[in-house]
Amino acid sequence: MTALKSIERPTMECETKHFLMAQRQLDEIALEMGLDPELHERLRYPKRSMIVTIPVRMDDGSVRSFTGYRVQHDVTLGPAKGGVRYHPEVNLGEVSSLAMLMTWKCALMGLPYGGAKGGIRCEPWKMSMGEQERLTRRYTSEIINLLGPDKDIPAPDMYTNEQTMAWIMDTYSINVGHTVPSVVTGKPVSIGGSFGRTEATGRGVAYCVKRAITQTGLDSTAPTVVVQGFGNVGAVTAKLLNESGYKIIAVSDVHGGIYNQKGLDIPRLQAYLSEMGKVSGFPHSEDISNSELLQLKCDVLVPAALANQIHDDNVQKLDCKILVEGANGPTSPEADKYLHENGVFVVPDILANAGGVTVSYFEWVQGLMHLFWTEDEVNNKLEQIMGRACDQVFEMSIKSGLRPRMAALRIGIGRLAEAKRLRGLYP
Ligand code: NAD
Repeated sequence: MTALKSIERPTMECETKHFLMAQRQLDEIALEMGLDPELHERLRYPKRSMIVTIPVRMDDGSVRSFTGYRVQHDVTLGPAKGGVRYHPEVNLGEVSSLAMLMTWKCALMGLPYGGAKGGIRCEPWKMSMGEQERLTRRYTSEIINLLGPDKDIPAPDMYTNEQTMAWIMDTYSINVGHTVPSVVTGKPVSIGGSFGRTEATGRGVAYCVKRAITQTGLDSTAPTVVVQGFGNVGAVTAKLLNESGYKIIAVSDVHGGIYNQKGLDIPRLQAYLSEMGKVSGFPHSEDISNSELLQLKCDVLVPAALANQIHDDNVQKLDCKILVEGANGPTSPEADKYLHENGVFVVPDILANAGGVTVSYFEWVQGLMHLFWTEDEVNNKLEQIMGRACDQVFEMSIKSGLRPRMAALRIGIGRLAEAKRLRGLYP
């Protein structure tokens, strides 16, 4: 018998850690806003969760089994919406907490969606394109009954991209017997994707940085910015802020970071990354670690990589005035409180990185209408929706004295609670 090559199942501790954190956040705001306890209880758990085993024929001829998840947290306001991530640490607890976050995010942005998330425990960087394609297609077929333009609409997340969405769309379409572009968003423009979708999350983050600077009255002609993670979100944020005259003094990726107090040349860095596959070693910069990067003195810090990067152990060492969360869940609840009490203005993830789901919504609408908008139209509409949400969160935060994260949650959860109350309980 050959040795088993399946990826290990997560431990119970790592399963529950993220989810309990998301529940704690809900509990805190539910208490503060006086949420009906019965509604509160219903929102503490996902509506539906699916765990699937995905057998994949590898290039060497062996068959390897992977574990995949799809969780729909709530579907009161519309079909479930949320990304699919490929990462060895994906687990049910993480996916469930991210699905919950998607529910709050869509409600906050006024989008007609519930929240979902999916993922597969794998190391995509060690897999060939063929292996990734077979993995994606089999995952899609295992969860196909959950999916559909009126049911659940996946999108890219960490280590998935528009090619992944094209495979999901194709697999779904073949199974139902006709082409259904609106079953995914974040797909290539040539098969019904939207202009502006790839850059949308970073564009929204960059917009929030500018709004936070105005809101805090930060007096600087060239604010200094540090970005953790130089993938889809981080690189676009850095590029757009750089084009607006901001000084990007440090960025990082999974291999480490680079720093130059005078500012990095972002277009050259992007070319360097395409060639070398990492940012470290970039000319005219100093190599630093990811933990050193978080502690740099700067005006704006943008965590745009993984969850849980800012916590009890390092929050006191941060030296930024504004923190804009490009990633989902980069700051622990305790660290968030500490930052607020110490005068750091935090733009929370459900607002800061909502540009992606907002343009996903535009893509879905365009697909359903078979009518397509120009990139300028998309970007203008995105700015309008981001602007409206920033106004509402900042105003609520000032009026209520809540920190911005709690203000954002209060708006999102308040809208959902109202919808649930009006729809009532079946039967
Ligand atoms: P990506 O895969 O394109 O990029 C991730 C980046 O993080 C890469 O540069 C990678 O090298 C880096 N990274 C990975 N591990 C790291 C570590 N330990 N330390 C430092 N850097 C590390 O992913 P993305 O789409 O840019 O997503 C980044 C974050 O933004 C995730 O938390 C994701 O959930 C969130 N997000 C993404 C979107 C979107 O539209 N892509 C939307 C909303 C939220």
